[in-house]
Amino acid sequence: MHDVVIVGAGPVGLFLACELGLAGCSVLVLEREPEPRSPWRSFPLGMRGLSAGSVEAFSRRGMLEPLLTASGVDERPGADEPAPPRSAGHFAGTPLDPADVDLARLPYRLPGPAMDGIMTSLDAVEEVLAERAGKLGVEIRRGAAVTAVTQTGNTVAVRAGEREYRARWLVGCDGGRSAVRRLAGFDFLGTEPQLTGYLALATLADPGQLSPGFTLTPAGMYLTMSGPGHLGVLDFDGGAYDRSRPPTREHLEAVLRRVSGTDVTLTGLHFASSFTDRAMQTSTYRRGRTLLAGDAAHIHSPLGGQGLNLGIGDAVNLGWKLAATIRGDAPEGLLDTYTSERHPVGAKVLDWSRAQVAVMRPDPHSRAIQAVVRDLLATRDGTTYAFKRTSGTSLRYELGSEHPLVGHNAPDFRLVDGIRLGDLLQDGRGVALDFSADGRLRDAVRHHGDRIRYAAGPAVDDLGFGAVLVRPDGIVVWAGDRVPDRGSFGDAVTRWFTGGEPPRAGAR
Ligand SMILES: Cc1cc2nc3c(=O)[nH]c(=O)nc-3n(C[C@H](O)[C@H](O)[C@H](O)COP(=O)(O)OP(=O)(O)OC[C@H]3O[C@@H](n4cnc5c(N)ncnc54)[C@H](O)[C@@H]3O)c2cc1C
Repeated sequence: MHDVVIVGAGPVGLFLACELGLAGCSVLVLEREPEPRSPWRSFPLGMRGLSAGSVEAFSRRGMLEPLLTASGVDERPGADEPAPPRSAGHFAGTPLDPADVDLARLPYRLPGPAMDGIMTSLDAVEEVLAERAGKLGVEIRRGAAVTAVTQTGNTVAVRAGEREYRARWLVGCDGGRSAVRRLAGFDFLGTEPQLTGYLALATLADPGQLSPGFTLTPAGMYLTMSGPGHLGVLDFDGGAYDRSRPPTREHLEAVLRRVSGTDVTLTGLHFASSFTDRAMQTSTYRRGRTLLAGDAAHIHSPLGGQGLNLGIGDAVNLGWKLAATIRGDAPEGLLDTYTSERHPVGAKVLDWSRAQVAVMRPDPHSRAIQAVVRDLLATRDGTTYAFKRTSGTSLRYELGSEHPLVGHNAPDFRLVDGIRLGDLLQDGRGVALDFSADGRLRDAVRHHGDRIRYAAGPAVDDLGFGAVLVRPDGIVVWAGDRVPDRGSFGDAVTRWFTGGEPPRAGAR
């Protein structure tokens, strides 16, 4: 029997498997597809944007370099000095100028190796994670489609083909059509689609007929991407297209003609996939011994590209909490903070995608709102607001403290001896970072070395703090000022790492 069976070897399942493997849990991943690679997961159809927050998650587990190599990224996503973001993305097709992001409003963004997002592909992400998972002793069984789930007492049984697997915990990371979600009786609530979207690699008789970039038209929107023949189309058909079959050349050409208002001709169609803006979320991410993460817990349109980032955030949040629960040293209620912290983050992303669809609708009211939104986004405040919503830099969980840093993703503090917080988090323990010269908080964590790493010394930039206590997922749970209060620091250690009062949680 394994500690955990994870269903789905997509990016979220594999990231979670690495987190649990790092913490010493025995993990089995069951994956339906017999082979790891497919055209849907490789460039160009599998191309995905990873936010700075996700890039940092890879960096904090020592996987950034392999990820950059697998993704073919030459330009490092980091900097040694404060630097503006290289890209700020778009909102509903309105590009955001990174020069307009107000850095003063990102006070916790310190220079480091992971300050920016990157473009990658699903198969590059999965290759890096599967290799790391293997090194951590995770077993990945492919060609194993899960068809039944039964919870009895302290065990969950999972059927795939002729075989049954037993585990203490089950996590469904099996994507938007999750079998685990259905079999374990989770609800899935939200809004039905307004549109069908298409992504395709096609050959056009006359590419000059289509405008470059995002083009809103009276019938929808189309997008021509940097590579020749890479197209996106949004057709506001109420999600009527039957997605059980891949789009044909004739269908796509007809949709593109209608949406673009041109007589564009597709002479060839190499790949095409479709999606909708259906936005759904389970109301809890845990039922007994079964948990959900990634698209299994929430789906929304890919506009603005946030699903993968959201799912990686789930995996990072869940991994250490589930591992502590399995080890038996989790404070009471810790595992339930997975839902209370991550559900509001997911709900906000669903709303962000709904907001984009609302302003892109081809009707006069939506177009009027879009003109207003475009003007607002062209301001420094508007660009900064949108960047904070999508880059992962504004994430803050409600942890019951008014301290501005508590609940935030920790800044990548660097000690003057060159060690970064990101380096200290590599083995998946919490970190107490004490900027005092005399190491005054050392005693409070002396007996917790298996769960909390302690490092002391002056920081290059301590942002005015005296010390911080950081969870394994990089979230600050306690921050002290110049002369840290040992008592409240000890309370935070107890509360998050060794039991005591249940942590209160939610997200702002
Ligand atoms: C066109 C498009 C563009 C996108 N762009 C971005 C972007 O730029 N940035 C971003 O953050 N997100 C983006 N997304 C969203 C992102 O791809 C998903 O959110 C992400 O892949 C979810 O990862 P996952 O591991 O939860 O699920 P998946 O990637 O769907 O993986 C699920 C895995 O589970 C397996 N599985 C399914 N059922 C079973 C079963 N019964 N038994 C065993 N295994 C099973 C599947 O084979 C698969 O390997 C985009 C999505 C689309 C469609």
